[in-house]
Amino acid sequence: MEAYEVEYLIIGGGPGGTPTAMALAAAGKTVLLVEKGPGLGGTCLFEGCIPSKIFRESTRRLRELREAAQFGLQVPTSAVTIDWPGVLERKRAILHRRSEAALQKTTKLPSLVTEFGTCRLLSPRRARLEKRDSTFREIHFERAVLATGSVPFIPPIEGVDHPRVHDSESILNIDHIPDRLVIIGGGPIGVELGQVFNTLGSQVSILEAGPRILGPVDDELALRLQETMQHEGIEIHVRCRVQAITHSSTLSVVAYRDQHGEDRQASADAVLLVTGRRPNVDELGLENTAVKHDRHGIVVDDTLQTAEPGIHAVGDVVGAPMFAHWATSQGLALARHLLEQPATFPTPDTNTAVIFSAPEIGIAGLTERQAREAGLEPVVARYDFHNDARAQIHGRDAGLLKIVFEQGSHKVLGVHALVEGAGSIMGEAALLIRNGLPIEAIAEAIHPHPTLTESFVMAVRSALAGAAQPAPSSKL
Ligand SMILES: Cc1cc2nc3c(=O)[nH]c(=O)nc-3n(C[C@H](O)[C@H](O)[C@H](O)COP(=O)(O)OP(=O)(O)OC[C@H]3O[C@@H](n4cnc5c(N)ncnc54)[C@H](O)[C@@H]3O)c2cc1C
Repeated sequence: MEAYEVEYLIIGGGPGGTPTAMALAAAGKTVLLVEKGPGLGGTCLFEGCIPSKIFRESTRRLRELREAAQFGLQVPTSAVTIDWPGVLERKRAILHRRSEAALQKTTKLPSLVTEFGTCRLLSPRRARLEKRDSTFREIHFERAVLATGSVPFIPPIEGVDHPRVHDSESILNIDHIPDRLVIIGGGPIGVELGQVFNTLGSQVSILEAGPRILGPVDDELALRLQETMQHEGIEIHVRCRVQAITHSSTLSVVAYRDQHGEDRQASADAVLLVTGRRPNVDELGLENTAVKHDRHGIVVDDTLQTAEPGIHAVGDVVGAPMFAHWATSQGLALARHLLEQPATFPTPDTNTAVIFSAPEIGIAGLTERQAREAGLEPVVARYDFHNDARAQIHGRDAGLLKIVFEQGSHKVLGVHALVEGAGSIMGEAALLIRNGLPIEAIAEAIHPHPTLTESFVMAVRSALAGAAQPAPSSKL
């Protein structure tokens, strides 16, 4: 069979690889995109962002129905039942639609070919594709972009290899709602899915090794969310070490040492193991190249070039932060760079993220602690959503906004919000941080009423009113 001869080989059709391939092909380059999964979309579409948010949407609506009386609506609680197969079917249909749409978009680019199969590097300019039908094809390329993502990290705990122990992928296909769910790991995935299953009626316990849930998140917001979750009936055990999981015919028992050094047990009919993700370099043939990797991921320089000239890497496979939008942003910057156009590679201090908890946590840029660690002098403007018109109308007024800015320059360094809808106000935060704007730029922009974005203005106004030094005039 004839070999593929292309300018660019992109391995991995997730949020990192697919936009990179499309941007290069849109500029007329010959590109081969290889994906081993069921379609284009990667972890984000099939096992991550989208399915977990589909579950979350069903439970958000369930919460609203249960709280209907607060809004003057009478909905008998007994009339609301959960059709779990229906939730799974809705997920299946959305995933299918999105994956088909992604494939359609690629077919509009004449110089882009998409193949489904597993790709392995044979040398710095040659690879082998094993197609789904088990046939092989050789690929000769000038440059490659590795975008193979990440896979769940499974810690070496006795008893993890059992059908009742799930990772973030298999839990999204679970065919029933467990009565008792023990979640090992209190990071974003553990928190989001913990609240989902708690709302669906599972008795949920989270076992977290750190001093609180959501390690890198602003302390105050993470602790507030932790209290909210405990108030809702989720058991959260911090500073604990899981030792083993044993299984009987009907139950699994997680043995752990608690923060006081006492040996404890938590029994469950499902266990979710979400202790992080590791970069996916399996089956990639890196040993046939000079590409270096360690436990954090493939080692790249500031332009995402690996140790092998002509081979680049983007997204989860190069390590934290592991987010879909980050992978895409890296991929698009890399494509511009390869096309010899001006490119700005993303830096972690300008990243944004949302934890789809209830209420949501929106994160942009640096926390106060991170700013201090970076040698900056941060000041924090605060706003309590208890006083906010839109939050009161929503019936979700327990929350806080913190805008971290630099003393002197007043440049916005970070924005952190705990409120239902936080995700939708982070775009403003991203623009402010990316463009190095001062807080005065917020105060001068007219924000519509009544919306959550007004919180930015309210926080800044009180900070400026209380600021010891006169504020510099806006650069806008
Ligand atoms: C439960 C969960 C929830 C999440 N929620 C969010 C969220 O709300 N927001 C957010 O931004 N991020 C979220 N993420 C993270 C997000 O999914 C990832 O950061 C993102 O998918 C990374 O994109 P990527 O392109 O680097 O890798 P991936 O999406 O993992 O794509 C890599 C692709 O490469 C393919 N591949 C691997 N090896 C080969 C090979 N040898 N040959 C061919 N193909 C190969 C894989 O099949 C895969 O499709 C979540 C993750 C999980 C697990």
